[in-house]
Amino acid sequence: MQSEICNLKLVIKSFGCQMNKLDTALVGSSLTKAGFALTDNVKEADVVLINTCSVREHAEQRVLSHLGHLKHIKESRPDLIVGIIGCMAQRLGEKLLEHEAVNIVCGPAQIPQIANLITEAIEQNEKKLAITERIRKPAPQHDSDALEEFESACRIEDKAIPAQAFVRVMHGCNKFCSYCIVPYVRGPEVSRPPHAVIDQIRKLADAGIKQVTLLGQAVNSYEYKAADKTWSLADLLAKAADIEGIDWLKFVTNYPCEKYFNNILRVMAGSPKVCPYLHIPAQSGSDKTLHAMNRRYTAADYLALLDRARDIVPAIAVAGDFIVGFPGETDADFRATVELVKKARYRNCFIFKYSPRPGTTADKRLEDTVPPEVKQARNVELLAVQQEISGELSRDFLGKEVKVLVEGPSKKPHLNAPENGASPQLVARTAGDWIVVFNGPASLAGQFATVKITKTSPLTLFGQLTSPVK
Ligand code: SAM
Ligand code: SF4
Repeated sequence: MQSEICNLKLVIKSFGCQMNKLDTALVGSSLTKAGFALTDNVKEADVVLINTCSVREHAEQRVLSHLGHLKHIKESRPDLIVGIIGCMAQRLGEKLLEHEAVNIVCGPAQIPQIANLITEAIEQNEKKLAITERIRKPAPQHDSDALEEFESACRIEDKAIPAQAFVRVMHGCNKFCSYCIVPYVRGPEVSRPPHAVIDQIRKLADAGIKQVTLLGQAVNSYEYKAADKTWSLADLLAKAADIEGIDWLKFVTNYPCEKYFNNILRVMAGSPKVCPYLHIPAQSGSDKTLHAMNRRYTAADYLALLDRARDIVPAIAVAGDFIVGFPGETDADFRATVELVKKARYRNCFIFKYSPRPGTTADKRLEDTVPPEVKQARNVELLAVQQEISGELSRDFLGKEVKVLVEGPSKKPHLNAPENGASPQLVARTAGDWIVVFNGPASLAGQFATVKITKTSPLTLFGQLTSPVK
């Protein structure tokens, strides 16, 4: 470890998806090992790293406005080192390095180099760029070995949520949905070796982790050809379910396709550890729009998958994503999406307004025809339809007892919050990923408990603690 680095204070800010949060945890853990001290306070930091997202323009704008703020701080503290990591670093590379506030630009595949990049930026007083030049080419073996070693060695427990951790099972994406930047910034799909994933989960279990969420952009495409057999996500889940200490396994996000679908659901049906929760974005209910999105299914195919999922796992909770205002989306296309949402009966949906991403097929070939106010109106309408459904589904829980894994004290007060010091309001989740809020001792964070549901809202169940489970 470089003596220069000892005692340097580091802030890491994270924008974006779960995959980014995992990268943030990996970088934080590796830099702590290298001698940095993590802080939340930019004023006392020597180094600020921003982990960025490129999925929608808005996410990038937030980072740019944050950089404006850091540029201002650097006027009085020119020694402050600012590094950009993640998808925006890979997408904008050199251009981002030209920003006055930026010292380091480091792509997702280069995060194992981050400690060295910081040291070099300080010692050589130079800007540093580390990104993949040809992102769709398979990485050279030594680079993927370095990434795997880094991934396996770092501690990735989520400090903010005790007893839970995320484990990446694959990098990249090969689906090329026409609107999506991910394949161009995260590279081709590469599944991690099953033994590395399983070893990592075993170590997490030894460290007290009870819930592991397996991550991949299209996690059900996980496929690893070993000498003796080809591993699918179903095999991985079955193996992980054998690990003592791990009680709940979740996996996100699924691409709607046949391959391995039944096998994954059968493992879910057969193991109490594999949570009955399926995040499977449809993106649209119009076949014309789905085709233009390069999603390789029709609305009928998608609904048939959901029917099958509910046949195999009757208690399954399903979540979805939708994009409204995709180029060429007519009122009739949008109505088809509303119909699909009504039929799918999701527990919840994430709804996004189409945001053109430079370099994607949709941006190159299709005009962003839907006016912002129409996108907004469709977003609001679809949310209202989903709220209604979530409200109905949540009311089914009234009077029932649910098992939850407690995350910790609630950050914001919810309905009916009789607070007292010994019994603050806690947030927890069920196996089906429902959010449950109840009063109980803060020491329950990271523990299982049972809660009797006494009140519901579309996104949250409220209740009373009946007993800690273990
Ligand atoms: N791989 C996952 C999948 O396919 O479901 C998630 C990818 S992305 C990080 C999460 C969501 O962002 C997508 O499901 C999609 O709804 C949305 N999204 C992706 N690109 C978008 C774009 N250009 N504009 C608006 N929303 C977008
Ligand atoms: Fe993007 Fe489609 Fe891959 Fe998801 S599956 S990351 S939406 S290209």
